[in-house]
Amino acid sequence: MSRTPFIAGNWKMHKTVQEAEEFISGLLPKVYAADGVDVAICVPFTALQAMVDSTRGSRVEVFAQNMHEADAGAFTGEVSAPMLTELDVHGVVLGHSERRQFFGETDKALAKKLPAALAAGLKPILCVGETEEERDAGDTQRKLRHQVQEGLHDLTPAQVAEVTIAYEPIWAIGTGKTATPEIAQDACSFVRALVRDKAPEAAEVVRVLYGGSVKGSNAKELLGQEDIDGALVGGASLDPAGFAEIIDAVK
Ligand code: PGA
Repeated sequence: MSRTPFIAGNWKMHKTVQEAEEFISGLLPKVYAADGVDVAICVPFTALQAMVDSTRGSRVEVFAQNMHEADAGAFTGEVSAPMLTELDVHGVVLGHSERRQFFGETDKALAKKLPAALAAGLKPILCVGETEEERDAGDTQRKLRHQVQEGLHDLTPAQVAEVTIAYEPIWAIGTGKTATPEIAQDACSFVRALVRDKAPEAAEVVRVLYGGSVKGSNAKELLGQEDIDGALVGGASLDPAGFAEIIDAVK
């Protein structure tokens, strides 16, 4: 079964609306002909509406970087899935390691966020990955098993098929230290095996992305691995030319 490659740019807390508009006017002409690749930008809440409007009719989808699991309630500072779909946002990144590390995001909360996102019609990207200490201690598979099993816990097999999982080793995020294609392939294939345990039919359709210092120069080799269906790109997604280079690497 062939899976459509998926390249998602995670801007993190970067770009005002004006900067986002400059970015997208640079990117759209470059990806016009990127047939056979799904492309998304994951942007701050404040730039969602502008990016939805500016990408309408293009191949670029717009994702948020987080959401609350409830539809509404007394949760100051939070944004819900229906609030995102009202803006025609396509998807949402869930459980990025920075949210887990700096904002106390738990696997328990993620287990609720995934069904809430899917119920609202958002495409979730669930992020998982080990720290350097966990890798050195031989704990990578244990960590990934825990994060994938907990995150997907409340989903039906049909819902699992709608999820994208990004394997992002924390030691490779923003460090310039990319996982070797072998390490990335091993982990992504392990993630797929975990999906297979939970939902055998979903395992062949779920897209597993690699993330962590992906750039134009290493994208081709990483994306050429059997179980790597795309990339979640941080730093290199902030510049239209650099991001387009990664999209081109798929073709
Ligand atoms: P990076 O970030 O590409 O800058 O390493 C990846 C991510 O955090 O999603």
